[in-house]
Amino acid sequence: MSRILLVEDEISLASVLRRGFEAEGLRVDVAHDGDEGLRLALTEEYDAIVLDVMLPGLDGHRVCATVRAAGLWTPILMLTAKDTEYDEAAGLDTGADDYLTKPFSYLVLRARLRALLRRGGRARPATIEAGDLVLEPGSKRCTRAGTEVQLTAREFDLLAVLARRPGVAVSKGALLEEVWDLPADSDPNVVEVHVSALRRKLEAVCAERLLHTARGIGYRLVPAHGGSG
Ligand code: CA
Repeated sequence: MSRILLVEDEISLASVLRRGFEAEGLRVDVAHDGDEGLRLALTEEYDAIVLDVMLPGLDGHRVCATVRAAGLWTPILMLTAKDTEYDEAAGLDTGADDYLTKPFSYLVLRARLRALLRRGGRARPATIEAGDLVLEPGSKRCTRAGTEVQLTAREFDLLAVLARRPGVAVSKGALLEEVWDLPADSDPNVVEVHVSALRRKLEAVCAERLLHTARGIGYRLVPAHGGSG
């Protein structure tokens, strides 16, 4: 049974989330301020931490940075009311794995949390590697066959979702949820446009295709090895 630490000072939101997680069969500890959240994160063992940014006492960024500085790589999903690129960058810089802006749908939070739990936090590599592709989530840096590829933040996130599941067809609906925080039945055109842009940039470095269309489903990333193997 997975064990979750939820650090959230809004009592009603915390209790709604706790009930939701418990209904999924997760064990949940709740802290209502940053200091208590940090104490629990450092003394108990969790499979994932859901961490609000705006907290009494230590804020979420400080908690996250302190947990990482202690050498703990428990997956961390940050929650924030702010929706600016600055905050997203700050969260990822302090070592968060994922980021969700309030207000969010519970279903999206659940999907993201499940993804983090599947990925796990033990000995997590700092980079995602798939064949000749290397992604660094902290800095959003992407290289292919050693050549840097300039991506927008959204393109990076889309590629990272596919690169974490090499060979697996991911539906456009799942991509809309995971990358754009949109319902799965939203217009898939935004996904198609971003995949086209990614293909153009990745194939400018090396013609071998990475992002393959999974007909009737979505896309899969098939690692390429630059013809060397
Ligand atoms: Ca808060």
